[in-house]
Amino acid sequence: MNYEAVIGLEVHAELLTKSKMFCGCAVVMSDGEAPNSHVCPICTGMPGMLPVINRRAVEMTIMAGLALNCTIEEFNIFARKNYFYPDLPKGYQISQYEFPLCRNGWLEIETTQGKKRIRIRRVHLEEDTGKSIHAGGSSLVDFNRSGVPLMEIVSEPDLHSAEEVKAYAEKLRAIVRYLGVNSGDMEKGVIRFEPNISIRPVGTTEFGTRTELKNLNSFRALERGTAYELKRQQEVIERGDQVKQETRGWDEAANKTVPQRSKEFAEDYRYFPEPDLPPLIVERAWVEQLRAALPELPDAKRERFVTEYGLSVSEAEILVADRAVADYFEATIKQSGGRSPKSVFNWLTGELFRYLNESLTPIEQVKVTPPLLGELIDLVESGVININTGKRVLGEMFKSGESARAIVAAKGLAQISDTGAIEAIVTKVLDANPAEVEKYLGGKETVLGFLVGQVMKESRGKANPGAVQEIVRRQLAERRK
Ligand code: ADP
Ligand code: MG
Ligand code: ZN
Repeated sequence: MNYEAVIGLEVHAELLTKSKMFCGCAVVMSDGEAPNSHVCPICTGMPGMLPVINRRAVEMTIMAGLALNCTIEEFNIFARKNYFYPDLPKGYQISQYEFPLCRNGWLEIETTQGKKRIRIRRVHLEEDTGKSIHAGGSSLVDFNRSGVPLMEIVSEPDLHSAEEVKAYAEKLRAIVRYLGVNSGDMEKGVIRFEPNISIRPVGTTEFGTRTELKNLNSFRALERGTAYELKRQQEVIERGDQVKQETRGWDEAANKTVPQRSKEFAEDYRYFPEPDLPPLIVERAWVEQLRAALPELPDAKRERFVTEYGLSVSEAEILVADRAVADYFEATIKQSGGRSPKSVFNWLTGELFRYLNESLTPIEQVKVTPPLLGELIDLVESGVININTGKRVLGEMFKSGESARAIVAAKGLAQISDTGAIEAIVTKVLDANPAEVEKYLGGKETVLGFLVGQVMKESRGKANPGAVQEIVRRQLAERRK
């Protein structure tokens, strides 16, 4: 029998606010900060403390809702979700239940069968928990993360393959980064993806029993974990068993999913309206202000790059996947009155990306700024240096942050376009290689490449390759006589 995959994704994203969701404590990354150094009676759940809603967190969630084509609800109520966990000091999490801030949106993804809309059920606001640390036979808890604003984005079960899940997750991550509401740093756990996965016979409409994959910290794990789970469920069904509703984890080393917690009985969180917070009324004028201030988003930017710069869709896609890359690209073109978009694209995504990847440098920190890359491109295009020298110079620029002009001057790398000088080198090389010249004159034309190479070497890579070709050919022809 053929099965169809049915997948819905839950995404948790910590918001980039300065302070926590319901108190004034600073939001900090756990690495580099002493445990429990950013806590107060509110975020450690002391009795009798009163929470206050973080306005900026509400704004950021509305921005995400708008970018995801959601309706922004006017009337909102926070709710208590009751459960016990050592890293949850209040014994409940303040979340949104029946009244999420944003509903009924969608996000478009590219699939092998074309564009596809994935419906978004809800986007709501809640608070993160602390972190348990199990070490040396004891369990410790760090509340720095307790109360950090957390946005949850829940899709409808509209995804039908591991590839679609990955495409959706990547798109979502790009959007929250464009909006500046989340850093997208998966390794740090500030954005977390949890796919709900089931299968059903093709042609049927009823949902199968789902499993939920927890704690995936890379797109690779998301894609591979989902694919594994789909295959596992099919095997369970085909041997006559039933899929159990449970949460499972992805074991990267063993390359498989493992059961974590049975969900056979729906958990009862005893949700009820948070009595310490008033209803949150979101004024329409506020929503419109936020809408008007939204930045250009990846899809719109991609279309614009195609029409404005004549790039292909896939080229534009590479640039817009990361807003910082897209901005870098445009800055390089625009400064000093415009450069060829194609050559900027090639230098950026070829040579510069290679250096960035090798050294794991984010583009925001690269020493080769757009004006510096632009100057290098100008030197190559105007023939001051040839393309291979240009690549070497970029390597130097990447390390030192010096300008291309300064490096070319200091190392005497300017291309020799003076034909007199090239003529002399060619004569010298031909004189030094009589056997090769003989072969060429005898009809073995491939020797030309060797001779040109010798001339380039003799010029220490600085001769204009076009001119060298021409002069070698001519001088060889002259020796025929
Ligand atoms: P919870 O996980 O809290 O029970 P929901 O029941 O709302 O929350 O579902 C969470 C996610 O699971 C949503 O993204 C939804 O689309 C998806 N989902 C629900 N039922 C299924 C199913 N049978 N197969 C796959 N995904 C599902
Ligand atoms: Mg769930
Ligand atoms: Zn606090």
